[in-house]
This record gives sequence, structure tokens and C-alpha cells, in this order.
Amino acid sequence: MLDQAQRILKDVFGYDSFRGRQGAIIERVASGGDALVLMPTGGGKSLCFQVPALLRDGLAVVVSPLIALMEDQVATLNELGVAAVALNSSLSTEEQIEIAGRIRRGEIKLLYVAPERLVQPRMLSFLEGLEIALFAIDEAHCVSQWGHDFRPEYLQLGQLAELFPDVPRIALTATADMRTREEIVQRLHLQSAERFLSSFDRPNIFYRIVPKEQPRKQLLSFLTPRKGDAGIIYCLSRKKVEEVASFLCDQGFPALPYHAGLSNDLRAYHQRRFLNEEGLIMVATIAFGMGIDKPNVRFVAHMDLPKSLEAYYQETGRAGRDGLPADAWMTYGLQDVIFLKQMLNNSEGDERHKRIEQHKLDAMLALCEETRCRRQALLKYFDEELEKPCGHCDNCVDAIQTWDATEPARQALSAIYRTGQRFGVGHLVDVLQGRENDKVRDLGHQHLSVFGIGKSMNDGEWRSLFRQLVSRGLVELDLEGFGGLRLSDSCRPLLKGEVSLQLRRDLKPQQSAKASGSAASQLVRSDEKTLWEALRTLRRKLAEEHSVPPYVIFPDATLLEMLRSKPSTLPEMAQVSGVGARKLERYGEAFLEVLNGGEETPRAVADLRHELVSLARAGMTPAQIASQLSCTEKSVYSMLADAIGRQQLSLEQALDLPEELLGEIQDAFLDGEGELPPVAEIIEQFAGQVDPGVLYCVRAALQAEFEA
Ligand code: ADP
Ligand code: ZN
Repeated sequence: MLDQAQRILKDVFGYDSFRGRQGAIIERVASGGDALVLMPTGGGKSLCFQVPALLRDGLAVVVSPLIALMEDQVATLNELGVAAVALNSSLSTEEQIEIAGRIRRGEIKLLYVAPERLVQPRMLSFLEGLEIALFAIDEAHCVSQWGHDFRPEYLQLGQLAELFPDVPRIALTATADMRTREEIVQRLHLQSAERFLSSFDRPNIFYRIVPKEQPRKQLLSFLTPRKGDAGIIYCLSRKKVEEVASFLCDQGFPALPYHAGLSNDLRAYHQRRFLNEEGLIMVATIAFGMGIDKPNVRFVAHMDLPKSLEAYYQETGRAGRDGLPADAWMTYGLQDVIFLKQMLNNSEGDERHKRIEQHKLDAMLALCEETRCRRQALLKYFDEELEKPCGHCDNCVDAIQTWDATEPARQALSAIYRTGQRFGVGHLVDVLQGRENDKVRDLGHQHLSVFGIGKSMNDGEWRSLFRQLVSRGLVELDLEGFGGLRLSDSCRPLLKGEVSLQLRRDLKPQQSAKASGSAASQLVRSDEKTLWEALRTLRRKLAEEHSVPPYVIFPDATLLEMLRSKPSTLPEMAQVSGVGARKLERYGEAFLEVLNGGEETPRAVADLRHELVSLARAGMTPAQIASQLSCTEKSVYSMLADAIGRQQLSLEQALDLPEELLGEIQDAFLDGEGELPPVAEIIEQFAGQVDPGVLYCVRAALQAEFEA
């Protein structure tokens, strides 16, 4: 069975091997068993039911909560030559009847349908009259009332177990927590499902969290090296969304706003543009979320602090679904903490609920102030141990330092206490720095013992210290008033000198600006840009012709592999990951043309090569070819060697060498151990016997043999 699955993977999807547990999941479902699949975003969940759908007889029914998600998958499958359709409310009655007819005739392999439609009695009895290959329940966490995406319609999917006892069911979700998992099993009656739990690590995402100083400037320096990339920027308020979007447009970054205050039409329009165009930035509130399956979102930036690690993980997880390098970047400061705590304080709900929310916010703050590996900390929160620091987050690469802040912290605490526990950070810093401004004088704070005791640290360092005291709960915020600080019970041991305090040393602004630019990303090198853009242009053109998003034609990963491996023939193109039979047939030639007409191999050279190969195959000698193509013998040899290396020509086709001489040359190359020696090393040995070009050709043939 796996053999067959492997073949489908290659022929239809164009991929060489299964990722993670895909193989095992596919085997389980294809052989008729139920499965619960927990895999992070971008892990490759779709193949887990799409491949079994092709392996089994009958119709595979896929339940999906959003029209956008369905349409995306259907378009992708159709491009691969797989018969898939989506039934949704946007279809006319005639269209629905037509689809039903095709299903009855067995012409459709996958049917995507919304849960509320699936459970309609008419739909169910229609399906009962058919052979069903499997049911796939995507975004299965929607069945959980505990989760954030609860959809009551999902509750009714439980009845599939009784109605179709012999049809395998596979439920999939990227939501990891235990409680949701158990709820899925319960409500969907998946007690006998085998569970497939993957790591929730997203290794391609680089995490960076910076203290907020000049947020817009910081954002710009993060974005500048990423110009042309698609990304999402999250802000807390609608107003800020609008402001940041227009600021970015002014700065030459194409950005669109998205929030619940915009009309439905405009929101849908912006979302469509984000999916279909390249390099757009969506500035959004968290209203922008589920259903965003765009695989090549290169970054997610947070201008404000999310209120939990669950939210942070989910929002940042929208970056890099395609597995290519992506960035999660966030700036946060004391204002964020004050704001979120105030919101929590003013929210409806009972004490217990508030305590849970408080706890979640504290975990988020702890991640911000974390001095060790962020990924380790993040995964640990989701009960996953990462053995070693990841080496792919800011804390790992910047070698974050901690410092002994015991003494300054005590000074800060006593400044809070002596000023009467009602002032915000601005005034406290003025007092510590000994600034005799109006406010200080009016209050008489210049006479306090703490006045001017903090001159050895600058304002930024003090603010960072206060922020960390708040984050750690050593200092509390006055939430009714204006964010005044007061001591909390937990600061006593510190005040009394019973414990010491180690804090994170923030990077200097210029350091962090530099670091944020250099860390991850930048998929293509500057010398590759021209060809990359040419490939993207062709992809966009094809996407428009077929009315699908560009990534449905080919994902970035595939385009990138083309760029790097430069296939020059259709068989070579077929080797590229993501190029299945159907796409090869449809698009292979067009992309080859761009690749071979690109910067590094101008069109004329490509043509010349082509002709050279035909002439050599027709039996011409290098000298004859040279005169035919009006170029030097030397360049003929070099093109021949090249063609041999690419296995477009055999050595025999290229040259007519006496057996014995060929044997001698091969021996000379193979004499040493390990690597083939360069031609220069044996050139003397054959001086006068053969043209040096011959040696290049023989070497290329040996090399190709080694690599095969
Ligand atoms: P998920 O639904 O888990 O977020 P997808 O099914 O959308 O993830 O897959 C993410 C990306 O990874 C897609 O572009 C998909 O084509 C690609 N992919 C999935 N499985 C493989 C594989 N075995 N080899 C190469 N690419 C894969
Ligand atoms: Zn790390």
C-alpha cells in the first residue's frame, strides 16, 4: 500500500517522500482505520486525506468550515488533475444538480462541504446511496466549545460514526492542547481512532521579540530587508491598523487594512488581494485569521502584545506554511502590559475566568522577558520538551545577557514607595535621575532620599527595569487610574535583601535593528533576483489565466528549487519537488523557457546548446560543430562537457575516442583516492595526444557517473 501511496505522491503531487508521520497516517486511513491527526500548521495535513482519497474506491468527503479554505484546496487539486469539487452556498441550484450528477457517475474523487450542509438529511441520504471512501474532518478543533473557533454545526458530525460505521474517518487539527483533543474524540466519536501527534515546533520560523522604543522605526527596519515579501502585521485596535497601514503605504510598502470595522465587501476584497497578489502586507486585528491558508506568508509582526501564548503561537504560525524561512517578530513595552491588564480588569466574567486569563497573560509576558531559548520556552508551555536551545531565535543567536539587577531594583522599589505608590514610570525615572522639573518641584520630590540616586543608569535602562518588574509581578499596576505603580507582596524578599534578581539586558536599539535585519529570511540572493522575478511573473500570468492564486500554480518552495537547480529539460523539470505529471505537462515548457532564457543563460546561449547537442548526436566531430556554429573548438568542448555533465549527451555521442586512449585517461583521473583531480593535474601526461577539451569531457562523464 505504501508503495502505491508513494507513487501517487510522486506522480500527482510531485513530491519525493512523505513528511513526518504522513506515511503512517495514510496507511492507517487507506486501510480503513480512523485517525486523529494533530500536526502544526504547514505540517502537511492535507495530503493525509488526499492521498487515501485517491487510494480508496468511492467518494472522499471533506468537511471544512470556511468557503475560502475549500476553494483553495479544490483549486489546488484541480491544478494537479484531481477531480475535486466544493458544494457551498455560492452555487446555483443548476450547478448543484450538475455536481450531484457527476458524483453519481463516479467522476468526482473529493467532495468538499461545509458541516451544516453535510448534516442536512437530504445530503446524508444522498451520500448513503454512494460508495464513500472516507470522511475527513478538517479544523476538527471547531467542535470544541473550549477553543476559540467553536462552530455549533461541528457537533452534529458525531452522527457520521453511526450512519457510516464502515467508512474510515480522519479528524485533523493544528490545535494542540489536551482538552481540545479529548473533546474532539468525545464529540466526534473517535474513540477507536489512532492518534498521530506531531511535534508542534515550527523550525522554519525565526522568533524575535524586541522592547518597544520607536515602534514604527523598528518596524521599518524589520521590513526593509523584506521588501517584496508578503506578511501580516497584527495590531490591537482598528485605529492603529488604519494608521500603520497608511504609514506603510507612505513608506513605499504596499499594505492593506483589515478589521471588523470595515464592510464585509471591503474585507473580502482585501483578503482576496492578499491571497492573489504577491508581496502585499496585511495590517490587521485578530479578526484576520482562520482561513488564511496563504502558504508564502514570509513574516508575522506583532505591534502589540497578544493576550496569551496560545494566541501568539497561532498568529505567528500563519507565517511560513510552505516550510521556507519565515519570521515572527514582535515589539512590546510596558504600555502593552498596562493596556492588557486594564482590559482584563474591566472585562466581564467571573473571578475564576479572570484568573485564568491573568495566568495566560503572565505566561506571555514571561516569554517576552525570557533570557533562554524562546522556542524551548514556547514549546514547554505546550508540554513539549525541546532538548537543546534551538539556535534559531533571537535569544539563541544574540547571546542574551543577564545582569544582577538586585540593587537598582531595590532603588526602583523604594522610589515607588517613597513617592506614595501612585506614579507612573515617567515620573519615577525623573526622580531617580534627579531631574528638578515642575512636577517634581510641585510634589516636593526633590527632597526625597531616592532623588537622584539612579544617575548611573540611563532612562532606557530604567524603563526596561520597571517593565521587567511589572512583568514578573514584583510591582503592580493601578488599573483604575493611569497606570501608577505600587509594590506587590511578592517584592518583600527583594526589598529585605533576602533574594537577588537577574534581569534580561535589552539590546541597544541599533544592535537590535541590525539583528532583526540579519537573522532569517531573504529567500533569494541578490544575484538570483532577476530570474526569481521572471519566474514569479510567469507564475502570476498563469495564475491569472486560470483564475487561481499564484501558489496554486506552484508553491514558492518549488519555484525556489527551479531557481537553484536550473532544470533545462522536461525530465529534469520532473525531478523538481512539487512538479507532478499534470503540472509538468501544463507548465513545464513555459518555466523551462524562463529558466533557460534567464540572466545566467541568455536565450542565444540556450539555443546554441540545444543545437550543439543535436549536432553531436548526429555524429559531428567537435571541429565540424565549431564551424557549423561559428564558434571556437574550445567553446565547443566546454559546451560538450557541460552537456555531458547534465546527462544530455553520452561521452560516446560527444567524442569518437579509441578505446585504449579513453581507458588511459580514465585511469589517470581515477588514480588517486577520493575526489577526481582537476584536469590541470593530468594535462601534461596527454600533451600532444588529445585536445585538452577531451579531458574535460571525460572528467564530466566520470563525475556524472559518480553522482548518479
Ligand atoms: P497544513 O494543512 O498542515 O497546514 P498543508 O497540507 O497545507 O499543511 O501543507 C503545507 C505545504 O507543505 C503545502 O505547500 C504542501 O504542498 C507541502 N507538503 C506537504 N507534504 C509534503 C511532502 N511530503 N513533501 C513536500 N511538500 C509537502
Ligand atoms: Zn532558540
